[in-house]
Amino acid sequence: MKHVRAAITYALFPVTFFGALWGALVGIQLELSKWLVLAGITASSAVVVAVCERIHPVHRGWNRSRSDVGTDATHALVSMILLPYFLEMILATSLLVVAIQLADVVGFALWPNQWNLLAQLVLAMLISQFGEYWVHRMMHECPLFWRFHATHHSPGRLYWLNAARFHPIDTAIGHVSALAPILILGAGSEVLLLVSVWVMVHGMFQHCNIHLRLGPLNYVFSMAELHRWHHSRKVSEANANYGNNIIFWDIVFGTRYHPPDREASSVVGLADLDRFPQDYVGQILSPFRWNKITGEGEPAMGSSSREDDPAANGG
Ligand SMILES: [Zn+2]
Ligand SMILES: [Zn+2]
Repeated sequence: MKHVRAAITYALFPVTFFGALWGALVGIQLELSKWLVLAGITASSAVVVAVCERIHPVHRGWNRSRSDVGTDATHALVSMILLPYFLEMILATSLLVVAIQLADVVGFALWPNQWNLLAQLVLAMLISQFGEYWVHRMMHECPLFWRFHATHHSPGRLYWLNAARFHPIDTAIGHVSALAPILILGAGSEVLLLVSVWVMVHGMFQHCNIHLRLGPLNYVFSMAELHRWHHSRKVSEANANYGNNIIFWDIVFGTRYHPPDREASSVVGLADLDRFPQDYVGQILSPFRWNKITGEGEPAMGSSSREDDPAANGG
């Protein structure tokens, strides 16, 4: 069992992640339906992560349900399946016209379709994650937007299904910021499939309750070791590691946070929002009932208390 745990710690993420990309490339070669490939890879990765959380958790307490599975499953249905599906269809159709017109104006195709697919994927991630980085940072630093993002930081434990806990408006803004630039540039459907596979698999591992060690890959991915700091109850630790899928833009803008001498706490969630609803409907309505949740006149995470914190912009 010792060797199994060591293999999970060091090899599970890279093997599953690169295996998923390889599976997607095979699906593309076989001309399978994009949604079938994505659903198959997401479902099998979810099983792998959920099983390994039982075998080798980083915190045993996080494996105990807190009546949150139903809420997270509903978020998964809306913010991981339905909303991305319809948003991508609408954006791909409407922005195709813009992409064609833009290519006409400049006189050549802006997207390097002749590149190897994996090189196109890296380019797509760098461009799409630039927008997502700033949207995510704005969600933390602007009190109005924090109302919508607080849902994602509301769970008191981290496990694979937390990857889906997003207010739909938060999901919509993030998706548009990530997808619109690469669609306007003319990225093809094959690249979009690889991006979706990256986002799905990475998201589950990012929130998983598995003891992982990525070593130097922590300078590439925004993985669990980094993201657990982002779910800290301390604003000075949580306002960092904004990258949803890569850590590149945090390195560039100085918000990468990974202390070498200590681990992120097992106590996660919203420090000043004990009344934050834990049911799905309550979370959907929460931005519009903000004063009731925060308590009128009291400082809360995302409002005046963050601005007063000198380390509020991360570390
Ligand atoms: Zn966040
Ligand atoms: Zn998260």
